[in-house]
Amino acid sequence: MITRRDILMLAAASVVPAGLARAQGGAASAAPDKLKVVATFSILADLVRNVGGARVEVAALVGPNSDAHVYAPTPGDARALAAARVVVVNGLGFEGWMDRLVKASGTRAAMVVASKGVAPRRSEDEHDHGGADPHAWQSVANAKIYVGNIRDALVAADPAGEAAYRANAAGYLATLDALDAEVRAAITAIPPARRRIITTHDAFGYFAAAYGVDFLAPQGVSTEAEASARDVARIISQIRKQKIPAVFIENVTDPRLLERIGRETGARIGGTLYSDALTGPDGPAPSYVEMMRHNVRQLVAALAVG
Ligand code: ZN
Repeated sequence: MITRRDILMLAAASVVPAGLARAQGGAASAAPDKLKVVATFSILADLVRNVGGARVEVAALVGPNSDAHVYAPTPGDARALAAARVVVVNGLGFEGWMDRLVKASGTRAAMVVASKGVAPRRSEDEHDHGGADPHAWQSVANAKIYVGNIRDALVAADPAGEAAYRANAAGYLATLDALDAEVRAAITAIPPARRRIITTHDAFGYFAAAYGVDFLAPQGVSTEAEASARDVARIISQIRKQKIPAVFIENVTDPRLLERIGRETGARIGGTLYSDALTGPDGPAPSYVEMMRHNVRQLVAALAVG
């Protein structure tokens, strides 16, 4: 039987701040003691989940199949940051909208730059004014640097979880070593002369440098500036001159430009590459590891045989 006193207690419990209720062990929350982490985009969130495991609750501001270069934050994002204990950003100029959002949110979370320690690639594209290329995660060796930074940040924020974070990170780093070897082995199946690819924006510079594939793009390292008629003409003449067999669309950019380039040059659409965002759980790239595997499969399928 529910008494009046029970009702008063229930009412009081509902206004206790969530953190306090958890500390008292009173709240029947689904995730009572999890460390709240916010990552700026889906790929980073996946890396955090792999290191954090069951101890963390991870949210991504920019979700699957969405473009983080030109993201417009929402009031919900500010609330997520305010509630977070740890915020993980890519850095290298990727999230130009983040500083204002952090200030607006008033968050006191630890801020972690996942790319800290990566050797930045400078963009040679005139759109980018020699700025840094932010897509460092496209080399698995760099993703391992991200994982080390994430592990250290989680240990600092939640020392009680140190053993778990270290064990998770060690296991995941071994997975990434195997992935790196797998990517290298797969690329060797493509004759060197055919390792040339066109994508919409210049998101694969680190992949190119790590694995020996040339990528050309009418857009620079950000999607903010649109490709000019001159950029498109330059790409079309390169495709013809170098007999580039296939062009690839991306999940975060409008496919129409490359479809037009394909029609004008006769280059095939080789498939969709995932550069800056994962797919949802039912898509072909729901995790970082699956994304890299998917991209390499697409490249090999389009380029390995003439
Ligand atoms: Zn990008």
